[in-house]
Amino acid sequence: MPAPPDCQRCPALAANRRCVVNGYGDPRARVMVVGEAPGRHGADRTGVPFTGDRSGRRLQALLIRAGLSWEEDPAMERPRLRGVFLTNVVRCNPPGNRNPTPQETANCAPFLREELEAVRPAVVVAVGWFAARWAFAELLGQRPPAGMRALHGRRWAWLAAADRRPGVLLCLVHPARVSRQQWQEAEEALAAVLREQALSPSISSEGCEATPAVARAATA
Ligand code: SF4
Repeated sequence: MPAPPDCQRCPALAANRRCVVNGYGDPRARVMVVGEAPGRHGADRTGVPFTGDRSGRRLQALLIRAGLSWEEDPAMERPRLRGVFLTNVVRCNPPGNRNPTPQETANCAPFLREELEAVRPAVVVAVGWFAARWAFAELLGQRPPAGMRALHGRRWAWLAAADRRPGVLLCLVHPARVSRQQWQEAEEALAAVLREQALSPSISSEGCEATPAVARAATA
């Protein structure tokens, strides 16, 4: 169930947003990209995650090069995506593009969890610190083992709580806060995960980092 367009769970965000930005893309995607929040000049204006501003264009260019979009122009504001679903930790633009608070993140978590359970992605790409924090808690039941710069380009194996499906979590620095070289690393990391999937009908954990939570999940 998407968040309703008049959702009032976060008063400050509800008063500031132009629109509620729910997830967008292929509902049976293999890849789910999770960002932090709709940007004021981007998704808050277009209604589509990761579009309409420089960060969005960077992310769309990444998807195009990875073969996850039918578009050639990363500036498209309603791109035709291919096997990828885009969403955010919170669905409303925070005042001044500030970070979402823990309470706001918790308020919006049920909508994100419903998207995760509906789409059932094999790969979750967490873009930015707040998305990484959500992904580690939701998928691995733990806090991130390092700061965002150290997480960038690394991946972890997880098992879906409902049916033990294996998946991969890839963490990337937010495109607004990344150098050209780091974004090149992001492209290579995403390409590596997609290549691995193409080699196997199930998700391979090759190249993933072992964590105590993964080990517990794998042996449960
Ligand atoms: S961020 Fe989520 S929970 Fe908060 S008002 Fe927007 S849609 Fe509702």
